[in-house]
Amino acid sequence: MTETLKHFIGGRPVAGDSGRFGDVFNPATGEVSAKLPYASTEEIDRAVATAKAASEKWGATAVPKRAAVIFKMRELMVARRDELAEALCKEHGKTKPDALGEIQRGLDVIEFAAGIPHLIKGEFNSNIGGGIDLYSIREPLGVVGGITPFNFPVMIPLWMGAMAIACGNAYLNKPSERCPSAPNMLAEMWLEAGLPEGVWNTIHGDKEAVDALLHHPDVPAISFVGSTHVGEYIYNEGCRHNKRVQAFCGAKNHMVIMPDADMDQAVDALVGAGYGSAGERCMAISVAVPVGEETSKRLVEKLTPKVQGLTLGPWNDESADINPLITRQAKERVESLIQRGVDEGADLKVDGRGATLQGYENGYFVGGTLFDQVKTDMEIYKTEIFGPVLSVMAPSSYDEAVDMINAHEYGNGVAIFTRDGDAARNFTDRVDVGMIGVNVPIPVPMAFHNFGGAKRSKFGDTQMHGPESIRFFTKMKTISSRWPSGIKDGYQLAFPTND
Ligand code: NAD
Repeated sequence: MTETLKHFIGGRPVAGDSGRFGDVFNPATGEVSAKLPYASTEEIDRAVATAKAASEKWGATAVPKRAAVIFKMRELMVARRDELAEALCKEHGKTKPDALGEIQRGLDVIEFAAGIPHLIKGEFNSNIGGGIDLYSIREPLGVVGGITPFNFPVMIPLWMGAMAIACGNAYLNKPSERCPSAPNMLAEMWLEAGLPEGVWNTIHGDKEAVDALLHHPDVPAISFVGSTHVGEYIYNEGCRHNKRVQAFCGAKNHMVIMPDADMDQAVDALVGAGYGSAGERCMAISVAVPVGEETSKRLVEKLTPKVQGLTLGPWNDESADINPLITRQAKERVESLIQRGVDEGADLKVDGRGATLQGYENGYFVGGTLFDQVKTDMEIYKTEIFGPVLSVMAPSSYDEAVDMINAHEYGNGVAIFTRDGDAARNFTDRVDVGMIGVNVPIPVPMAFHNFGGAKRSKFGDTQMHGPESIRFFTKMKTISSRWPSGIKDGYQLAFPTND
């Protein structure tokens, strides 16, 4: 019988009572692996009330004690990373080494969050005038919501949640309905690490649950990661309800290959960044931009056989390069976009459609696909495909490449491959993109730096993790204080200055 999953609220698994459920699938076989309850508005209200009560005590807990819980969580996650990876892979479909990489990036944020006593230090000025000391402190917000996508079911809840709880908030994670089991495991592990009940909650659902969070008066902040059309809605709806919102969204990441680049290095980088995790990464490279015809010719000659050689497999096939896509709809969408590229005149060098795997005939596999001669007005260039499809465009000059990148609606990540420091410096100055790699194809910043894109890849002005996350998950109070011995006799009606 198919297992029915639960929410994890107030320190325990809670069965859904909305009567609404969705199916969770194994992407390699197309079979239903579990049923997932979708929370109603009333269930969200109850979860927020539980989290609010927990946030009051947790926010008042000494900061080093909060750090000690985060340290313990690190130990648990290190010890159980295989188990966590397998839960993640079975629902997402990604390969185990890829899942372990994601888990490590989540651990990096936990390690950063454990430094919270240092990170949350305020500001202090002694005697700014008239015996007054002036200082600023950062306080928790209360209950914060985290709405997360399917493609990093462990890393992204930790990106926001570890920082939120380090700052003294309670966290309510609404993970993707495609990959719910690993987020549930995280909630259990936090409890085991000593986090008080109700501080980390996982509640499942769809638009109804998200809207209930967006409209709830006791949820002052929402952090979102997902597609641009949903993120834009969440940002606007959350702001309309006076919330602080940050939304990290879709992408179309270019990689420029200058004529002087080491072509073997560039090709390997494109294979890893374009086809790793079946292209289902917001930092995947989906457009290769060799500068000039000759560079383009050399690139396509070397790239084509490598893409043809990529193998398909389920998560537990150690030798597989490309895992299945997340849903049947995702597979159909990617295949129809490939057809659109052909219809619009792009040169299909490698066609990954119709890929099947013995024993996994109903899996959502699409093979590595490569287009050459792609133009800026084609749908495959304008749209985020989110599949193993790489487009090659060859502008005639470097300036044309920069203009093209800046004209695209997305600005999440970008890379340049070159040996020329001047070119690299010029590129990092001129591109309007949030995260830039110089000979680094997936420039995801480490936890102690900020993560975030530009243009329609991000809504809101704060970044993920790094020092910016402390700003996002706290409110500042500024206090002017003096003792009676510093007060002069008599009153003053003029506006106070420090004369
Ligand atoms: P998605 O937007 O479909 O879902 C994200 C979350 O929003 C899920 O929890 C989902 O349940 C919820 N949601 C979906 N539709 C909704 C609606 N109509 N109203 C309210 N909530 C809704 O995204 P996805 O398919 O899970 O993830 C893939 C997308 O996420 C890609 O576009 C990718 O680029 C993006 N992404 C961005 C980053 C980044 O940091 N910029 C990182 C990872 C993924």
